[in-house]
Amino acid sequence: PSMPYNRLGSSGLQVSQFSFGSWVTFGSQVDTGIAKEQLQIAAEAGVNFFDNAESYAFGKSEEIMGQAIRELGWKRHEYIISTKLFWGIHDMVNMKNTLNRKYLMQAIDGSLERLGLDYVDLVYAHRPDPNTPIEETVYAFSDMISQGKALYWGTSEWSADEIRAAYEIADRRNLRKPVMEQPQYNLLHRHKVESEFARLYEDIGLGLTTWSPLASGILTGKYLDGVPEGSRATLKGRESIAEEARKHEKGVRALVAMANELEVSPAQLALAWVAANPHVSTVILGASSAKQLEENLGALTALERLTPELKDKLDHLFA
Ligand code: NDP
Repeated sequence: PSMPYNRLGSSGLQVSQFSFGSWVTFGSQVDTGIAKEQLQIAAEAGVNFFDNAESYAFGKSEEIMGQAIRELGWKRHEYIISTKLFWGIHDMVNMKNTLNRKYLMQAIDGSLERLGLDYVDLVYAHRPDPNTPIEETVYAFSDMISQGKALYWGTSEWSADEIRAAYEIADRRNLRKPVMEQPQYNLLHRHKVESEFARLYEDIGLGLTTWSPLASGILTGKYLDGVPEGSRATLKGRESIAEEARKHEKGVRALVAMANELEVSPAQLALAWVAANPHVSTVILGASSAKQLEENLGALTALERLTPELKDKLDHLFA
C-alpha cells in the first residue's frame, strides 16, 4: 500500500501518515551512518516529516539529522523537519525549563545552526511553562515565523486549556496561531487525544503529530520474556519501561495473538491502531535500527486489514 498524506489539522500542510523521529536513538544508539540509512528507507516509503528537538542528545540529534540530510543531498522543498524548544542546553538561569522570550529567540537560532538550515517547518513549545505568560510565548513563536525561522508552530504535552488560551491570544492579537499539538498516543495512553482534546479538533482545527506509538517498544511484545539486551529498557534512566511492560503483560499477549491471526507483527498492529484515529495527522515512528523501521513502515498493510470490528476489539484490549 502507498503512503497516505493528511492535512496537519486545518493547515494546508500535508504530512505523511507515518513520520520518523530521533528521540533516544540519534546520538546514542544511532550514528550518522545508520541515520542516513533510516532516513533513506523512510523517504522511499513516502515519509515526508522528520521530528527532532533541541534537547535530544543535548543538540547532537539535530547535528546528526542535519548532516545525514546534507549527505543524502535532499532538497529543502522535499522534506518537513521540526524542532522543539523548552528544556534548553545551557545550564543557567533563563535558559532551561522555560518558554520565555529570551530563551526561545536564542534557542531557535541554535537549533537552525546545528541542523544547518535557514528554517524549520514546524517548531514546538516542548512543554508548557507555568512561569511565563502564555502571551509572551505566543509572541515569541509568532515572531519566529515572521522572521522566516519557522513556518508553523505548535505545542507538545500542553493541556487543552493552555492550547485554547494560546490560540485565542493569537486570534485576538493577529498573531500566528498554534497549528498542531504533539501528545503521547498509543494503546496505553489515550486520555488527551480521545477525551481532553475532543473539542479542539473542530473549534480550533488542531492537528496532532503523536509520539511513542509503541509505548517505547512495550507494544512490540519484546519485553514479554524479560528485557532483551540492547533494548531501550536497558538504557540508563529508562528502567521503568520493564515495570510498565510487566503491568500490561496480559494485554500485550492478547495483542500478539491478534497480530498473528492477521499475519502482521504486533508492532504493525499497534501502529495501525494509532493511525486509524482520524484526529491523528501523523504517527511519529521511533526505531533504533534500519530493520525496525522497515518493519514499522509495514504498518500500512496492517492499517488496510484493520476492520471496525478489530479496531473495537483493540479499543478494549487494555481497558
Ligand atoms: P516508540 O514508542 O515507537 O518506541 C520506539 C522504540 O521501540 C525504538 O527505538 C526501539 O527501541 C523499539 N522498537 C521500535 N520498533 C521496534 C520493532 N519493530 N521491534 C522491536 N523493537 C522496536 O516511539 P518513540 O518513543 O521512539 O517516539 C517516537 C518519536 O516521537 C520520537 O523519536 C520523537 O520524535 C517523538 N517523541 C516526542 C516526545 C515529546 O515530548 N514531544 C516524547 C517522546 C517521543 P529499542 O530497540 O532500543 O528497544
